[in-house]
Order: sequence, then C-alpha cells, then structure tokens
Amino acid sequence: MTPLIDTFGRLHNNLRISVTDRCNIRCFYCMPEETPKYEPRENILSFEEIERFVRVAVTLGIRKLRITGGEPLVRKDLPKLIGKLASIPGIEDIAMTTNGVLLAQHAQALYDAGLRRLNVHLDTLDRARFLHITRRDDFPKVMEGIDVAQKIGFGPIKINAVAVKNLVEDDIVPLARFGRERGIEIRYIEFMPLDSQGLWEKDKVLLTDTMLGMLTREIGPLEEIPDADVRAPATEFRFKDGIGQVGFIASVSKPFCLNCNRIRLTSDGKLRYCLFAVDETDVRGLLRDGGSDDAIAAAIRENVRQKWLGHEINTAKFVPPPRPMYSIGG
Ligand code: SAM
Ligand code: SF4
Repeated sequence: MTPLIDTFGRLHNNLRISVTDRCNIRCFYCMPEETPKYEPRENILSFEEIERFVRVAVTLGIRKLRITGGEPLVRKDLPKLIGKLASIPGIEDIAMTTNGVLLAQHAQALYDAGLRRLNVHLDTLDRARFLHITRRDDFPKVMEGIDVAQKIGFGPIKINAVAVKNLVEDDIVPLARFGRERGIEIRYIEFMPLDSQGLWEKDKVLLTDTMLGMLTREIGPLEEIPDADVRAPATEFRFKDGIGQVGFIASVSKPFCLNCNRIRLTSDGKLRYCLFAVDETDVRGLLRDGGSDDAIAAAIRENVRQKWLGHEINTAKFVPPPRPMYSIGG
C-alpha cells in the first residue's frame, strides 16, 4: 500500500495511542483540580480494538508507537496491551509516557512485555513544588519509579518537564544536573495551550532560549546535536564537557510542524492529525459496527489528507482544541 503522505509531503510513521483519559494526579496545566467528567467506560477502546487499529495502521507504514493518556498506568493490565502491540510484525519501536506514580509497581511487567523506552513526566525535584503543580504529594513515588526502571534496565529513559514561567525557573538547572548524574535526558517542554482551565497565556511560557541561557551559565556550554532525528519533536543539545544531553520541545517559540510524522488515537477512538486539531475522525464506530480493514485504512488516509501545515499558536487565528491534554493524549 502507498504510505501515509499528507498534502504537504510529510510521511507519517508514528502513532500515539492514548489508552485512557483518566489520571491519578492533577497537573494544573492539563487537568482541573476537581475530577473532570471522564469519557464513559464503554466509549474507551478495548485492547482488541486498539490492536486491530494498529494492525491496519501498520499496513499504511506506521512503525513507531507511543502509549500515553491520561495516565497510561491507571489502565488495568496495560502490559498485556504492550505485549500484543510489540508482537505485531512491522512495529519497530514502542515507548510510553507516564507520570511515574505507578511505575515502580508495574515496571517489571512492562519490561517483560517488551517495553524499553520511557518518558517520565517530572517538572521539579522539589517535593513542595511537585505538590503545588500536581495537587498530589507523589514526588517520592515518581523518584522510586525512576530508580526501579533504571535498575531493571529500561533505556533510554527521558524526563518530560513542562516549562511554565514564574514557576519552574529554579528547577531547570537541578533537573539537568540530575539527568547528567543519572544518564537521563531532560526534555523541557514549553507550556502549551492545552490546559482544561484556559490558564495558558503566551507570557506564561518559559522559553527555550531562556532555559538554554540558564543551563549554559550555571552548568556549561552546550552544542546542538547535528545528527539528531529531524522528525523528532525535540531539539537536542549535549553539554560540551561530554556529560549528558538535554532536549527542548519548543512548540511555542520554534514550532516544528514542518517535520511532523505523527497521528494520534484518543482513548475513545478518535483519530487526530495534530495535538491542536479541532476536527477528528471517528474510528470507534468503524471498529464496533463491522467496518472492514479497508474502511479503517481509508479513514486513516482521509485524516492524514486533511492535515494542516501546522498549528498557529502564535497567531490571532489560533483556536485551542476542544479537548484538553489529558483527553487527547500528550
Ligand atoms: N500522564 C502522562 C504524563 O504526564 O506523562 C502521560 C500523558 S501527559 C498528557 C503527556 C505529557 O504532556 C506530559 O509528560 C507532560 O509533559 C505534557 N503536558 C501536559 N500538559 C501540558 C501542557 N499544557 N503543555 C505542555 N506539555 C504538557
Ligand atoms: Fe495526568 Fe499527565 Fe495530565 Fe499530569 S500531564 S494531569 S500526569 S495526564
């Protein structure tokens, strides 16, 4: 079959799968403080439905998967899904993004199921600030999760740190030092307009250049890694002293849409060509109402065909997507 190429010539080989919209913590830049109205359970795709979707997507050239949520580890028996997906011929790479709270508990089963690559979300090494950001006092659990995952042998492990101005400035350097000590890349992610409470403003984004300046002044010079994958969202730098590297997801200050190779499946079975997409394609209906594999493939193609050139966060035309981050799958 011809590969998934959009009208701007971008080849799509990367699928992000959200397995739940539920979460066990409440990061303010994603979720409201009170438990939101979650998708009814019957609307959430089963493991069998996700597996079938992936089998069809593989025929169109999807090779890389990332499991996300909500918090993927609140989904019961997640290692079973990982095992099913890892055994699909054509899948070359599976990664997971997690907040780490339940990682220590599930790490071995995930590893045994074939998962190796992890992104653990951690914005700060300060317990009080972790509580302030996430509204939960789970910092020790996340640290334990990272320790256990490293001991088991997961790799690479990366840390996702959301960069919010006037909040995490004191965390940028300690996180990088921690990463250098532990052989973990810290990925600083500029705060994006995907929070459920409409708190985002451009002035609240801690920008990549500011963070680069802090790291250079306090740790030492960095150099951009020239051969890093141009289609990966992060721009990566290594410290010139040879110890460790950091990445920046500069969605606001330096959008990377021109290299995008990703589509997303939400936990309730909607296909999205962009994190910021307003329109989505229903595939749950096809999966449940006897849609053929060809019909599912056609829906994927059509979604990719509709893909826009890029989000327009920096323009007056920007409309935030109707779903917040936890419901799309970050
Ligand atoms: N619960 C998991 C976690 O927190 O990693 C997976 C889902 S979460 C939506 C995926 C990633 O989105 C997180 O690692 C976090 O770094 C990022 N994120 C959430 N809200 C964000 C926002 N408003 N701006 C930028 N990144 C955000
Ligand atoms: Fe949960 Fe992840 Fe959203 Fe934080 S960013 S509230 S951990 S889904």
